[in-house]
Amino acid sequence: MTTGFERGAAFVDGRFVPVDEARVPITDVGFSRSDVTYDVVGVWDGAFFRLDDHLARFERSCAGLRLRLPFSRAETTEILMRLVRLSGLRESYVDVICTRGVPRDGSRDPRTFENRFYAYAIPYVWILRPEDAETGMDAVIAATVRRIPASSVDPTVKNFHWGDLTKGLYEAYDRGARYPILLDHDGYVTEGSGYNVFAMVGGELLTPEAGALEGITRRTVLELAAEEGIRARSAAISEQAFRGATELFATSTAGGVMPITSLDGEPVGAGLPGQVTSLLRERYWQAHKDPRYLTPVDYGPAPAH
Ligand code: PLP
Repeated sequence: MTTGFERGAAFVDGRFVPVDEARVPITDVGFSRSDVTYDVVGVWDGAFFRLDDHLARFERSCAGLRLRLPFSRAETTEILMRLVRLSGLRESYVDVICTRGVPRDGSRDPRTFENRFYAYAIPYVWILRPEDAETGMDAVIAATVRRIPASSVDPTVKNFHWGDLTKGLYEAYDRGARYPILLDHDGYVTEGSGYNVFAMVGGELLTPEAGALEGITRRTVLELAAEEGIRARSAAISEQAFRGATELFATSTAGGVMPITSLDGEPVGAGLPGQVTSLLRERYWQAHKDPRYLTPVDYGPAPAH
């Protein structure tokens, strides 16, 4: 039996619709001015991973942009549950979006807009597919673009100001690679197009302390590293230190812990996923069975056959 929701489900204008039918009003300034924030939470094996942490970050992002969420945390959770239930997906990429909305009577005053909430659940998205984990990511340090300054666009507020990241992506492709990593204007490492980065430097695991999104996967990795007795912390990482790292990896909800095996065409370490990287990758997926991180989805009664 088909439900129409197999490719995903969306919540738009208070209605649940198949994701391919979801439409955004063209006058919503989320679309035309990038006046929007969002968050992405994963569903793995039928349970949300760190749902409250994602929703708390989403609320902070909204507050950072002076957006008013029209739904409470409990209502949002209910909507997301229903989206995943409708889709029937056991592994899903669940996106929540809050836009400034549609101007009333031609007003340009953002205070007068009615902020809008959208959400959708689609099949899980991989930045690096699991079958490619051993090969790893081919990354470049972007030479043609720097991360937009945090004083202009706060990277801890999840945003769609992706001009710099998209330019980095094109540079990576032009150079025969796929994954850009951007420096800030002082030459320190920030993040990539949809992922945080980690580097093993002098026997310590480092991740940029500023200039990047405070990723939930990044946080999970820092917690797991502490549990494993791996020395890990956030710090300023110079380009030189990053280039000298013995291991590199990227982290994202869309793919977890992803080894970086080459940088600017040169192998990282032995050109294979490093020991610490592999251990944390394994622990990351084990954590997806740990009840303290999970919010199980109620899929309702199994369909009769
Ligand atoms: N950095 C950027 C720019 C991102 O867009 C993302 C995720 O979309 C991340 C980092 C990783 O964040 P998380 O681990 O919360 O998915």
